Amino acid sequence: MADQLSPVLADRWVRGFAAAVEDAGDRLTEMDRRSGDGDFGVNMTTGLRRALADLPDHPSSPGAPFQVLSDTFLSHSGGTSGPLFGMWFRDFAKVGAQVDFLTLGAVAEASQKGWATITRLGSAKVGDRTMVDAIAPATEALQRSEQEADSLEAGLRAAAEAAERGAEDTSQILGRKGRTSYVGEAALGVPDPGAVTIGLFYRAALDAVAGASS
Ligand code: ADP
Ligand code: MG
Repeated sequence: MADQLSPVLADRWVRGFAAAVEDAGDRLTEMDRRSGDGDFGVNMTTGLRRALADLPDHPSSPGAPFQVLSDTFLSHSGGTSGPLFGMWFRDFAKVGAQVDFLTLGAVAEASQKGWATITRLGSAKVGDRTMVDAIAPATEALQRSEQEADSLEAGLRAAAEAAERGAEDTSQILGRKGRTSYVGEAALGVPDPGAVTIGLFYRAALDAVAGASS
């Protein structure tokens, strides 16, 4: 089992994430239609397709694939989530640029930094019905796993499950940030698409690491 993410595994993580978002694109758009305006899936898939075309064949560090994602989302993507995801990926790029391999501690650090960045920019708190409702529990799960000296795979599994649970729970939350705050109860029963996407992000990390063990 891989206990560190090499540049090749980081590349697999990013490609797996893009594929998962592509698969979920219509579902994400429908979630955004119920809770906002319905551009989310298209914004995400357009940005990710563009980034995939620019991914280096031989990433120089585990940060390199995230740098491409970040640059693409910051310069091209639309909606509220585009720049936020651009800045989220930027923290993974920055942490990944400084190391040869991403350990569980490094993933936890990137996640913590990304959470702080998203909070600084959008000032959403847990319970506002945004991507933060998945980022916060995933980051806390990573930190707990790191303290307990879990394997990278166990830590990423905990993060993916926490993010997915956090995303699912947004179905019951009235929005307090962004467009979803205007539609009120109409969004109940549908999860927040940004939070669901964070679940896909960590699930893709887990799949990249677990797949490397076979
Ligand atoms: P828009 O509302 O501009 O159409 P998008 O559809 O691109 O935005 O993105 C919507 C997603 O953005 C939501 O699902 C939510 O997770 C996220 N979001 C909105 N506002 C914030 C915020 N202030 N902080 C963090 N995430 C936010
Ligand atoms: Mg939208």
